[in-house]
Amino acid sequence: MADQWPRLFNEKMESLTVDRINELHNPLFLKQLEHVSKHSPLYQEKFKAAGLEAGDIKSIEQIDQLPFTVKSELREAQMRNAPVGAHRAVDIVDLSRVYSSSGTTGIPTYIGLTQSDIVNIHAEVIARFAWGGGIRPDSIVVNIPTAPFIADTFREGLEKMGAVNFPTGFNTDRVISAFKYQSANALHSTVSFWSYLLKEIEKAGLDPKKLGIRRIIGGAEGGTKAVRPLIEESFGATVIEGMGMGEQACIVWGECVENRGRAGMHYMAQGIVHVELIDPETDKPLEIKEGATGELVYSGLIHQAMPLLRYRSRDHVRVVGVDRCDCGRGGMRIEVLGRYDDMLTVLGVNVYPLAIKDVATTFKPRLSGQIEVQLEEPGTAVKPPLKIKAELGEEPGDLKELKKLLERELRARLIFQAEVELVQELPQYQYKGKLIRKLYEE
Ligand SMILES: [Zn+2]
Repeated sequence: MADQWPRLFNEKMESLTVDRINELHNPLFLKQLEHVSKHSPLYQEKFKAAGLEAGDIKSIEQIDQLPFTVKSELREAQMRNAPVGAHRAVDIVDLSRVYSSSGTTGIPTYIGLTQSDIVNIHAEVIARFAWGGGIRPDSIVVNIPTAPFIADTFREGLEKMGAVNFPTGFNTDRVISAFKYQSANALHSTVSFWSYLLKEIEKAGLDPKKLGIRRIIGGAEGGTKAVRPLIEESFGATVIEGMGMGEQACIVWGECVENRGRAGMHYMAQGIVHVELIDPETDKPLEIKEGATGELVYSGLIHQAMPLLRYRSRDHVRVVGVDRCDCGRGGMRIEVLGRYDDMLTVLGVNVYPLAIKDVATTFKPRLSGQIEVQLEEPGTAVKPPLKIKAELGEEPGDLKELKKLLERELRARLIFQAEVELVQELPQYQYKGKLIRKLYEE
């Protein structure tokens, strides 16, 4: 398709190669460090506890001398200095919004933003991500809200890049009408909604290809590898996924249309979030090169309301490339292996629930692709067999055979012994799938 638009939304930033990143980030990092030292009660305490004085850190090369920040600290910090918490580094007059996110532990976590945070962080990364997904200023994007935070920031990101934002809500009639009667040609929604929409369209007797949906973008949920070819084929669309975190930037990683599903997700937050790769056992930084695996650690660079330095993501990733992609992006690309917090070991083999879900998803339509790992005892070392509930799909076929096949496939691909229980329905979690159920009292 001839494209009258530039290749990248922010060519200067996105085309930067890995070896040039520190040059760009150094002055931003030093300014951010000064901001948190002066205004963030949390970091004033943390630096004092670590014996750090202002001026000790003179360059981003010394970032590993700063203490890490972990999620539980924020949970504790948010109980002081409301709104947001002890990590708030601006006055309330400068604060524009506070979002609460559904915490997995029951207590919400809070995200505070200034106007600059909204426009220069979240809208900017979403504009880069949507552009990477083939959306252009002449695209009409049906934008289906998930949580308020994502709904708002996606609207602002799409508007920043000049695309037409077309919110419809979850009403499928309105979604279909937007494509059928209003020339909408792109879709942003959760990954789970793609399959749901496809079914509804087929139920209505419509040909999904004729609706004109050409670009689909969504947040990475895991277990989508097997679904994507079907979605792309059925709609005649390209599908790309992205990943980030509300506390830093709602997109830090995103695929591109040129290499979707193959080359991993591109780093997209140049000049906004600095990324380190560390060994989670030794906490030591790792060199970012092809094949390296470790935990992602994020430091905000231009964050005003709640700047966080060296924030542990708990995401276990592999660097799949640092060379320039066909799309023109120059930074590193990663693939997600799983979340360290979810990692289990069965007879010394590391097992991620996300990987189990990926395997279950390949059994569609016999299985729905939803799974839940059942843990009977505390601790992450599990005595085999690992108990897994898998939800039946629309055409399960012979159940005994299905159970055996899934157990065999898990053993072949993930090298552990599973005991599968097939169930009609697992509890639905709309936003982020909860993949582990603890059957013991905590
Ligand atoms: Zn690319």
